Amino acid sequence: MVRPVALTLNAGSSSLKFSLYDIAQGPAEPTLMAVGQVDSIGGKPKLKATLSPASPAITRELTASEASNHTSALATALGVLRTQYPEARACVVGHRVVHGGPHFSAPVVVTEAVMNEMRDLSPFAPIHQPHNLAGIEAAQAAFPEALQVACFDTAFHRAHPKVNDTFALPREYYDKGVRRYGFHGLSYEYITGELKTIAPLLHDGRVVVAHLGNGASMCAILGGRSVASTMGFTALDGLPMGTRCGQIDPGVIFYMVQQEGKTIDEVRDLFYYKSGLLGMSGISNDMRTLEAADVPEAHEAIDYFVFRIRRELGGLAAALGGLDALIFCGGIGENSRKIRRRICEGMSWIGLELDHDQNDVSARVISTEFSRARIMVIPTNEELVIARACKSLLARQHAQAAE
Ligand code: ADP
Repeated sequence: MVRPVALTLNAGSSSLKFSLYDIAQGPAEPTLMAVGQVDSIGGKPKLKATLSPASPAITRELTASEASNHTSALATALGVLRTQYPEARACVVGHRVVHGGPHFSAPVVVTEAVMNEMRDLSPFAPIHQPHNLAGIEAAQAAFPEALQVACFDTAFHRAHPKVNDTFALPREYYDKGVRRYGFHGLSYEYITGELKTIAPLLHDGRVVVAHLGNGASMCAILGGRSVASTMGFTALDGLPMGTRCGQIDPGVIFYMVQQEGKTIDEVRDLFYYKSGLLGMSGISNDMRTLEAADVPEAHEAIDYFVFRIRRELGGLAAALGGLDALIFCGGIGENSRKIRRRICEGMSWIGLELDHDQNDVSARVISTEFSRARIMVIPTNEELVIARACKSLLARQHAQAAE
């Protein structure tokens, strides 16, 4: 019998991340079979993949036609997966979708109506949503029989209170969907789930999760539910990121357009792709490179990154009425002991006391036993959250079919 397999896809503007999970029926967690990504789609594409948990990663330069768009990139990825799993057929494909708008608060099976609703949300996330939808269309063409599941980065935040859902704009804009959505929801859902297993009392308490990767945000979570997030209407707000500026006075936009004669598209590109760590340092968007670069521009970029995280931490703790745990995840949060140390330095007023030895080895708990609030490092796993959704929606569909 062919085992049930879920394919997860995360389609970005020029990349396609994929993973394959065994989703055998029953209570077991989905098991990772393979993972990889195609980068520089439409340019000089490259494929990286680990085709089984035991095998080493492979890297291959692709020809332009092997990944000229998401459809050919998916076909190429599937071709590589088939060399390892010739019999495997994805019976469900789970997609990371950046924007679920005000209504999608959980993963859904993609129907024509859902597809149209997601298309209608594209103006809210013009840089990400169309690529996510291109990934779904490519998967529908490759697996016409498979269930397609959409998992939204906004969904985890949908129940946050109105005061954290709104801007101080005329009311009509709220009704039109101009709200603080919050993103990185799949990561926060994973961390919350882990916490429930490993530290149930903390899960029920006041937690700030710092997802610090190339994209970065923080979320205040109370009893497992999102209360506030640093990201707002788009994934541009909040913390400075690899190439995104984070929080900015909207007056800067007026200045750039009116005084410098920039077009709105130029300002958007500047904020999304040329700012953040890259713009401030003039060197790189990559934290490892900046940590190794002993020049004032790199130091300033890191100083600003750390300063904004500490400032947001205070604000999010206030939104929670205190702090029981600070959790680090994402490439920087999971790996950079220096950044974690600098964030936690002098934070005993908020209950945080870092254990330097534990921090140096990126242990799971990196606070001292006397720290009032726990500090933890929990590697995130957004793909597993998508695979779980695939498994449960497939099971629901089978149950409905059996009725
Ligand atoms: P994305 O948002 O693209 O998923 P990641 O979560 O993979 O990003 O994080 C990428 C960031 O993590 C980069 O800035 C990278 O330099 C940083 N990073 C990864 N490993 C380390 C490390 N050992 N020390 C410092 N930064 C690291």
